[in-house]
Amino acid sequence: MAIAISGKTKILCVIGDPIEHTMSPAMHNAAIQALGLELVYVAFHVKQDQLKQAFDGFRALGILGINVTIPHKINVMQYLDDIDPVAKGIGAVNTVKNIGGKLHGRNTDADGAAQALKNGGVVLKASKIALIGAGGAARAVGFALVREGSNVTILARHDDVPAAADIVRDIKILFPSGKIDSCELGKESMDKVMPGANVVINATPVGMHPNANQCIIDATCFHSGMHAFDLVYNPHDTLFLKHAQSAGCKVVHGIDMLAHQGAMAFEWWTGTKPPVDIMRDAAIKVLSTR
Ligand code: NAP
Repeated sequence: MAIAISGKTKILCVIGDPIEHTMSPAMHNAAIQALGLELVYVAFHVKQDQLKQAFDGFRALGILGINVTIPHKINVMQYLDDIDPVAKGIGAVNTVKNIGGKLHGRNTDADGAAQALKNGGVVLKASKIALIGAGGAARAVGFALVREGSNVTILARHDDVPAAADIVRDIKILFPSGKIDSCELGKESMDKVMPGANVVINATPVGMHPNANQCIIDATCFHSGMHAFDLVYNPHDTLFLKHAQSAGCKVVHGIDMLAHQGAMAFEWWTGTKPPVDIMRDAAIKVLSTR
């Protein structure tokens, strides 16, 4: 069944560069269709030097909601009227809502990751979590975990150790008693951190298509009883998750975070809770055709 477009149809969109491979239109339009709302979700290819013009256009056209993806999550902040404190702390916005012509920014990556872990059976409070990576996603996930009361160690490769220390500093500004530290990713730190960890998270692109034969850590690092969460969602079952499953870990897929961050954006824009399962299935269907 196609979405009916009328004079009252409101527009939701995602912007990025590149954008052709986004799964967000499939996820959101599946939810729109299931709920019978007068909305449509489209993707716009916006280059870095066109970001201001794009936001002038969103205001002029009354676009209701905008998802922001790579490389615009940081630069977009200068074009917004208001940014929530967590997104400010993270230093990145992935969702914008147009309320009466004023553009408000949030970061639903953080909440989406926390929700995916909770749905996977992780009790975040007091969990010991090894978070690998020091980029934008690790930063958002780190904020969410510390806010939930987890005890987080960021493991970053040699050149990223200063970036990991910056994440720890910024999180402690927002959550002064938060439990978070960082160290260099290596055999010594893995031997120290992994045996006591309840959860290990890959927040690097390692293992992503077309490099699906790569895993950020050695298969021997996983131990039974722990949860493993890979932010990479293409392929669905990454080598990281396969190694984890072989070692007896429970796994949380990147697609779950994608669906939850999308669902949280959708609910903020529309005031309606969307069917997360339908959104996730729509994304998996797109993945299966690639
Ligand atoms: P990013 O900002 O580019 O950061 C990636 C981080 O991984 C950087 O710290 C990078 O280090 C590090 N890294 C890259 N290759 C590495 C290696 N071989 N060993 C150790 N560290 C390495 O990317 P991001 O936005 O954080 O995204 C990370 C991954 O999460 C991507 O695959 C993205 O698709 C995924 N993601 C998924 C969701 C979801 O909803 N499931 C949401 C957001 C992101 P350098 O800076 O030194 O390269």
